[in-house]
Order: sequence, then structure tokens, then C-alpha cells
Amino acid sequence: MGRKKIIAGNWKMNMTPSEAVKLAETLKPLVNNEKADVVFGVPAIDIVPVAEAVRGTNIELAAQNMYFEEKGAYTGEISPLMLADAGVRYVILGHSERREYFKETNADINKKVLCALAHGLTPIMCCGESLEQREMGVTMDFIRQQIKEGLCEVTAEQAKGMVIAYEPIWAIGTGKTATSEQAEEVCRAIRECICEIYDADTAEAIRIQYGGSVNAGNAAELFAMPDIDGGLVGGASLKEDFGKIVFSA
Ligand code: PEP
Repeated sequence: MGRKKIIAGNWKMNMTPSEAVKLAETLKPLVNNEKADVVFGVPAIDIVPVAEAVRGTNIELAAQNMYFEEKGAYTGEISPLMLADAGVRYVILGHSERREYFKETNADINKKVLCALAHGLTPIMCCGESLEQREMGVTMDFIRQQIKEGLCEVTAEQAKGMVIAYEPIWAIGTGKTATSEQAEEVCRAIRECICEIYDADTAEAIRIQYGGSVNAGNAAELFAMPDIDGGLVGGASLKEDFGKIVFSA
């Protein structure tokens, strides 16, 4: 059995609750592709109304972050219990914007990954190199470390169900997409890294997305690569084009 493609939109910090419901209503009929898993990664405050708007469709929801405790004195944070109860299935963890602006480390991300898994949420764990790292030739060393530390104490069985998003930082929001060969090269190396940490079955099962300026024009070529199992889409997930991207899978 091949891996099912997964196309996730990362809405980032866009869309008020009423705008989010409108966008979900607009996209609903455009993303009904049974061949792929379709995910809207919406801001926390939009989760409840968007869940209501997409009820009964093929669309699943992702949170964009989560804290690694169930409840308590952590002002401003959102817990896995809250997400699961609101009908969220996936959680984007370790996005480069969270690593850069909110100083999340691999160790923080690992705690979140373990906690999400313990509560039945599927982590979409992000990794990716900066332009400087790529130019210095240390891309894979850096990503290997992100993967190894992010997956610390995650079992093979758990890893099989996870999603990893390879997002080169230089391609995020820049309009500068990695070529399909560049993206495939790193996604294949990530799969080899999973094989080293676990085994061939786990490497074969885990889904690896590419993210970084995916649009309706480049999605089909990227998703056709053997080790790219779909995309994490930022800017283009807020437009009707997202439907075309979903049907490129
Ligand atoms: C992202 O933020 O995950 C992303 C890939 O953004 P964009 O598609 O806008 O580059």
C-alpha cells in the first residue's frame, strides 16, 4: 500500500473567526479529493467555528501549536485535551517561525510531539535549513539533528503515523520554491534518517511533506516525486488555488 498524500494549509496568523468560516465555506467544495488527506491548519481561535463549518466533509483540522501539559497554570497556552475535544486531528509543531520568533528548541518540540501523540493527535513536525546552512553544505547535518532530537523517545509505531514537513526556510513565504529535485533529495534523506533511527517499515510508512512557496503551478511536479507525500502550504492555502493544489495530489 502506498502512502496517502496529505495536503495541509497553514493559515498562520490570518483570518478572524468570521473570515475563517467564510474561507472554509469557499474552500469546502474545492478540496473534496478522496485521494488525499486534506487539512486546514487554522489559528486556535478559529478551530471551533471552522470545525462546525466543515463538519461532515473530508476536511480535517490542525492546530498550529500546542503546549506539552494537559492543564494548569500556563497562561495563554492551549492544551492537547482542548484540541482533541474541539475535534482537531493534527498539530503543526516546530514550524520555523515558532523556532525563530518564539525560540522553540528541538527539546521543546520533542516534548510537544510526545504529548500530542499521547493524546491521539498527529504531529506534523517541521524541519528545514536556512539559506546560510544550505550554502555552507550543512543542510542534512542540521535536519538530521532536528529529526533525531524531535523524535527522541517516540516509538516506531508512533512514528509510522506521523507527518514530517520539510520546509527550507529560504523557500517559506519568499516565492522561491525548492526545485522538485532539491525537495526530493532532502525528503529522501529524511526517510533514510528515519530508517536509521527506526527501521525500513517505519521509513516506508511515515509521510513527508514539502513546504515552501507551494502553489497551483508547482504542486503537481513536487507531489509526483517518490519521497514527497504532499505539502504544507502557507500563502496559497488562503486562496481558491488551494483547491487546485489539493487536486494536484
Ligand atoms: C509555511 O509557512 O508552512 C509555508 C510553507 O509558507 P508558504 O507556502 O507561504 O511559503
